[in-house]
Amino acid sequence: MDNQDRIKRLLNYKTLLNQLQNLGFVKVFSDNIADALGVSASLVRKDFAIFGIAGSQKGGYEIASIVGKINDILGKNKEQKVVLVGVGRLGTAFLQFGKGFHNEGIKVVAAFDINPEKVDETKEIPVLPMAKLSEFVQENEIKFAIVTVPEAAGRQTIELLMSENIRGILNFTSLKIKSTDKTIINNVDIEHELARLIYNVNQLYNED
Ligand code: ATP
Repeated sequence: MDNQDRIKRLLNYKTLLNQLQNLGFVKVFSDNIADALGVSASLVRKDFAIFGIAGSQKGGYEIASIVGKINDILGKNKEQKVVLVGVGRLGTAFLQFGKGFHNEGIKVVAAFDINPEKVDETKEIPVLPMAKLSEFVQENEIKFAIVTVPEAAGRQTIELLMSENIRGILNFTSLKIKSTDKTIINNVDIEHELARLIYNVNQLYNED
């Protein structure tokens, strides 16, 4: 079983369990979770067992304790600090969206830009010059970065981040850059995704 699939299911479990909590439920059975998510109850129990989530066949699982455990597993009980490089229109949108990530325990703590006119250290999320990146990343033990520089600057930016021991990069340039054994790079090509979506819709409806 692919671990990525299991992590995806954990996220689905968590969303469902939060909904149940909001409705006032305290306990849940694997059957309930299975029915709601369209998976088998034995798979739910297996996932929980693998991650050390205990419950009993008769009494079910305590929702709060599963949610806590899932948060531990997903690293959400710890704040995940992220930096952003490239404060253009897309980068600015991310900075403005900042609060939207808080549910997931993600915090964009600083942004960096090569253009001195973009630098503003007084902002809630400060925009710092590139010369300060190395020191900031080391002092604050940053492991994650979002890259929203133009394509031409993408490779050098990503190489710089990797040389600073950044472990995970969300790359919004259209460059497809491969992960290494030290750094996971997720390439997000919005235009490509949109083209894929349009192609799939057109296939479905047989339109041009
Ligand atoms: P704007 O015109 O407002 O800058 P934009 O999104 O069209 O918006 P881009 O040309 O895509 O701008 O650049 C995004 C940002 O990346 C800019 O703020 C730019 O100064 C910055 N940038 C470009 N090259 C680098 C680099 N090598 N390192 C860090 N930041 C860079």
